[in-house]
Amino acid sequence: MRAAVYHGRRDLRLESVSEPEPGPGDVKLRVLYNGICGSDLHEYYDGPITTRVTPHPLTGVKNPVILGHELCGEVVACGAAVADLAPGDLVAVEPSETCGACLWCAIGQYNHCPALAIHGYNRNGGLAEYTVVRRSMAHRLPRGVTPLQGALIEPLAIAWHTANRCGLEAGQTAAIHGAGPIGIGVCLTLQKRGVEVIAVDPSPQRRLVLARLGVRVTIDPTACDPIAAIRDLTGGRGAHASVDAAGVPASFHAMLHGTRVDGTAVVVAIHHVPVVVPPFDLLMPEVKLTGVALSAHAFPSVIAAMAAYELLYARDQPSEALHAPLAASPAARGGAVVAPAAADGAGGESP
Ligand SMILES: [Zn+2]
Ligand SMILES: [Zn+2]
Repeated sequence: MRAAVYHGRRDLRLESVSEPEPGPGDVKLRVLYNGICGSDLHEYYDGPITTRVTPHPLTGVKNPVILGHELCGEVVACGAAVADLAPGDLVAVEPSETCGACLWCAIGQYNHCPALAIHGYNRNGGLAEYTVVRRSMAHRLPRGVTPLQGALIEPLAIAWHTANRCGLEAGQTAAIHGAGPIGIGVCLTLQKRGVEVIAVDPSPQRRLVLARLGVRVTIDPTACDPIAAIRDLTGGRGAHASVDAAGVPASFHAMLHGTRVDGTAVVVAIHHVPVVVPPFDLLMPEVKLTGVALSAHAFPSVIAAMAAYELLYARDQPSEALHAPLAASPAARGGAVVAPAAADGAGGESP
């Protein structure tokens, strides 16, 4: 079969390799769709980062390795001891293989398993005609969820877990810095939960996408001070929670300083340069700063939301009442902030 094999930095080869076969507890998939993640680009340009030049302790896999961890496949064969999947089933792949025996696995926080191996980095992944996963990594898709949607479940599971880390309730406000696939997924997930979303991204195209997805308050951080704009929009207090989904020092600082007293700041982006944080900036506002380690138990929730047309087919627009607490921002005068009234014209149909 053909596969995209990563040999090292800037060395990705389309090769003919032998087809993998399922061992006991494994499932063999014909890959239908496989997304390319920002992490894949970092692995290509700056790696090895997540791939290994020595054998992974759980899988024994080292480079060269087939990339691809955001995938949907059709079951073509099941190994011994797999009785609850059958050829023809569509599955989304949760790319985490864990030891199943450590403290973290035992208490359900398997995303913290010290032996965790990631499909497409520490196991041969989905950028191939066929791939083999552990049964525990395969989530069967219900009728109505398409293979293309199936490949989006992995990044949306990260977004779902990020939304959980925000710890918000309906009616509260979140500021999302960065509108790449994860940032957009966080916006959609929080909106589905009734949270008011303020999205910050310098790209006009991305802000347009956000508006079309029903995100009604967007900020261009190159045209105004996003911290001041967020404070304007929240009665001077800042967001209840903020997310850095951009991964640059400016987005980190905007996340931290745009969060209200006792609020939560969540880093999901991977940073490549250190960020200097004066501890005083945490001390006085008593902001809780935290991170996101992949996801845990999020796949079934995302699949259920997709099957119910609540994610990616979010046609039910948030109500006016939900957005009432957002005041008009002075920064909106320059067009840097699209507040609820202005976004109505740009929004509308889902893409
Ligand atoms: Zn990814
Ligand atoms: Zn473990």
